[in-house]
Amino acid sequence: MSESASTHSTQRFDVILIGGGIMSTTLGAILKELQPDWNIALFEKLDGVGKESSDPWNNAGTGHTAYCELNYTPRGTDGSISTAKACGIADQFHVSRQLWSHWVKEGVLGTPRTFINALPHISFVWGPKNTQYLRDRYHAMRAEPLFSHIEHTEDLDTVAGWAPLLGRGRADTTPVAASRFEDGTDVDFGSISRQLAGHLGAQGVAMRYNHEVSGLSRGTDGRWDMKVKDTAAGEKFSASARFVFVGAGGGALSLLQSSGIEEIKGFGGFPVSGQFLRTTESAITEEHHAKVYGLASVGAPPMSVPHLDTRFVEGRRSLMFGPFAGFSTNFLKAGSYFDLPLSVRGHNLIPMLQVGAANTSLVTYLMKEVAKTHKKKVEALRDFYPEAHPDQWELITAGQRVQVMKRNEKGKGVLQFGTELIASADGSIAGLLGASPGASTAPSIMFKLLERCFPGQIESWKPQLENMVPSFGRVLNEEPKLLHEVSAATSATLQLGS
Ligand SMILES: Cc1cc2nc3c(=O)[nH]c(=O)nc-3n(C[C@H](O)[C@H](O)[C@H](O)COP(=O)(O)OP(=O)(O)OC[C@H]3O[C@@H](n4cnc5c(N)ncnc54)[C@H](O)[C@@H]3O)c2cc1C
Repeated sequence: MSESASTHSTQRFDVILIGGGIMSTTLGAILKELQPDWNIALFEKLDGVGKESSDPWNNAGTGHTAYCELNYTPRGTDGSISTAKACGIADQFHVSRQLWSHWVKEGVLGTPRTFINALPHISFVWGPKNTQYLRDRYHAMRAEPLFSHIEHTEDLDTVAGWAPLLGRGRADTTPVAASRFEDGTDVDFGSISRQLAGHLGAQGVAMRYNHEVSGLSRGTDGRWDMKVKDTAAGEKFSASARFVFVGAGGGALSLLQSSGIEEIKGFGGFPVSGQFLRTTESAITEEHHAKVYGLASVGAPPMSVPHLDTRFVEGRRSLMFGPFAGFSTNFLKAGSYFDLPLSVRGHNLIPMLQVGAANTSLVTYLMKEVAKTHKKKVEALRDFYPEAHPDQWELITAGQRVQVMKRNEKGKGVLQFGTELIASADGSIAGLLGASPGASTAPSIMFKLLERCFPGQIESWKPQLENMVPSFGRVLNEEPKLLHEVSAATSATLQLGS
């Protein structure tokens, strides 16, 4: 499919990646390895990659392994704890670890410490009902090979031993419980994006920064044409490709809508911005070495689960607590207030209104969050770190998440919190909507995309895909020996300890 011709008016490529976050750079690096002869371009509207949601300060940097996120292990109506979603996410994160290990060995990614660090993942709750839930979750999880190494305690001194800030100043009158996985991780997705972009440029991919794509249309030759503006030079031109990936984060919905594909009909987006409290005071940061996730409050969306996290960004250690939800009609941090109103179409208006009517608790929650003062935010932090002082914490604004609103099988509008891969029936265009678990599972999402969009090539790519990811196409929870092997191998390569 190699395409290298270029006319003076239209730049022609085999593949165009729109956006330079973790998703596009991951797909670009996979494709370049599978098909080095393909002519690929990446258009990014900002002056570099990884500056929107993939920037380390715009997300929480959790390597989502479903170790500590309690929303992945809900209690069912029969009272049992479901581990199905957690197993799926943990499996996907093992795929990410394998691909990153492969790239470290190939020199595509540099020193692992620049993008991934070992960090225990802890779930922490208080009160009789919640401690009972965590105890039941512990029993359900340890039966799964992926989670058999879980530890659990209901002893405050042990909790304080695992994470000293949680115990300090806490009265022992309320029951507490914590579960821990020592092999969790903190990941800098911005660093991965930048390193992959450097590799792509070195491999001949046309990396075009300050280039904004404003609309997509299908040409009579079946190719996708797009208008591109070089905002630095103030010039406009056209580009075309046989395959387009819309990895534009919050900008993906409008670009997919402009393509006119059937598959985007009925989809809408609801932006929720995030804020975190952050401290870099070493007296505090050195006393906490973990990601500690709690339970979301009533009405709160799953991505608002409070957590107290150690972060490693550019070799510096800090501590972050949040997220606190904010509201803005922007779909990107560097977007426009018109993003939300301009995303409304005839086909998504009713589903969007239905979502609003059915999610009044979410709306109430958002209004309360937006009204929270710094003092109130620190009060929320004190549930985790009772001795927290307001002067030691600053508020930072994280990225925008555009939650997916779509029509369900009954034609009713529903709000969805996962990531949605949208692909046209002929596989010539695909894009991503939504957020969590997002960046952590980028490799698995991109492999799914390859299967959907390149059915003719996937069989011939399989040997190379298995070389990149030894567990490719297999379910680790069903193969404990393979799980042990890939886990040990990636821990060694990524320098994560055993
Ligand atoms: C508060 C918060 C916390 C999160 N925490 C976690 C976490 O702990 N772990 C985790 O795994 N995930 C987390 N996520 C999700 C994760 O950040 C995202 O899933 C991931 O970064 C999305 O990557 P992306 O490449 O799709 O988008 P982005 O990184 O947003 O990249 C999209 C790019 O497209 C560009 N673009 C947009 N429109 C255009 C256009 N028209 N033309 C050209 N370029 C365009 C943008 O400038 C941007 O650079 C979090 C997200 C948020 C907001």
